[in-house]
Amino acid sequence: MCDQREGDHRPEMPSRRDVLKGSLALAASPLLVGVASSAYAAQTSEPVGTGPTSARAYGALKANSPLESMQIKRRAVGPNDVLLDVLYCGICHSDIHHAHDEWNPIVPTAFPCVPGHEIIGRVQAVGSAVTKFKVGDIGGVGCMVDSCGTCENCLDDREQYCLKGSTVTYNGRDTVLGGHTFGGYSDKVVVTERFVIRIPPGADLAATAPLLCAGITTFSPMQHWKVAAGQRVGVIGLGGLGHVAVKLAVSRRADVTVFTTSPSKIADAKRLGATNAVLWSDSAAMKQLANKFDYLISTVPQAYPMQQFIDVLKLDATLVNVGALDALQGVSGGGLIFGRKSIAGSAIGGIAETQEVIDYCAARNIKADIELIRVEDINRAYDRVVDKDVRYRFVIDMASLKVAGTTRS
Ligand code: NAP
Ligand code: ZN
Repeated sequence: MCDQREGDHRPEMPSRRDVLKGSLALAASPLLVGVASSAYAAQTSEPVGTGPTSARAYGALKANSPLESMQIKRRAVGPNDVLLDVLYCGICHSDIHHAHDEWNPIVPTAFPCVPGHEIIGRVQAVGSAVTKFKVGDIGGVGCMVDSCGTCENCLDDREQYCLKGSTVTYNGRDTVLGGHTFGGYSDKVVVTERFVIRIPPGADLAATAPLLCAGITTFSPMQHWKVAAGQRVGVIGLGGLGHVAVKLAVSRRADVTVFTTSPSKIADAKRLGATNAVLWSDSAAMKQLANKFDYLISTVPQAYPMQQFIDVLKLDATLVNVGALDALQGVSGGGLIFGRKSIAGSAIGGIAETQEVIDYCAARNIKADIELIRVEDINRAYDRVVDKDVRYRFVIDMASLKVAGTTRS
């Protein structure tokens, strides 16, 4: 769920006072902003710094407070690290769950929270041991920034299931600076090169950013469950993940149906390549689809009565839940038994597989449908995502953070 942490480790409370101080200083003096940025530009010509540097960011100081401008610390560039100047960052519904502390107590949020795990940036500095990137390259960072690298799941390229807990991009344990990690709503990020994805030349950078979470989260289970040409695939929920799932399933020549709660998305579903789109409330249409589907992916961000979708699975078919973290609702044991049906879950994807989906999409010109926004529009964008009103992923143009300075929304 883009959100694993070491099970027994609650992140230390952050250096909130530092962040507040930074934020207030920025608010008090626009001049200081200019000084800070030019100092930063000078520092980054050094591949390996000696101490943490400050970065500008947008985040929440507490649950349900609007996101606002603040300063955070980024670690010095170590031998294996890449420093990215963040160009774009997508807004995933997981960012909202975290910023609002909605997953507490399963995954409590440590504040201040700087979300963002669909990050595209330009390499500004590399450590002495880095081989994959050079200054000027474009790199991507998804939901993880580290893992143990030695457990059986990491060795099998499934770092998202690291037995010691992978380090997630934000709200994870920061093993270098202490406290917790900060995500991509920021002007820069330092990440070990193993967790930085190569972005193919010529890619539409803003529309590629969402593939680093929405893309891999829908691609990985399609690989695992071997979604293939001619199969009947259902996508439940047409939002950020859902619209990419439609494009990926169509690219595999599956016959795709979208299940939506929004009448206004029926036409969009077909434009995206689905052959059919059905409203949940259309019980006659749902009945006609009984026992028809080979594979369903549910991207709905909370639990809901699921039996109506189990009913449309055919013998031996699987519904993969990637959305709801809370207890699933209304599933009949008999409904699974009589038809040997399965409900499964899936979390993002490993680093090799994330590289694979980025390359796969670049080769086929698959990208997200995005609305590019400025950093000060994040709070409005959050409201629109919650209202199911995003078409279909908001992406922040991070150049706006560099000029926003003291702006609050
Ligand atoms: P999103 O853009 O908000 O899309 C979710 C879609 O689900 C909505 O557009 C809407 O589609 C439908 N929906 C929303 N609320 C609903 C409700 N109350 N009842 C029924 N349908 C509802 O969200 P997203 O960014 O795609 O993320 C979806 C979920 O996946 C989130 O919970 C996120 O945290 C999670 N996630 C999981 C992973 C993982 O690794 N498993 C990775 C990333 C995200 P319609 O209008 O078509 O009904
Ligand atoms: Zn995400």
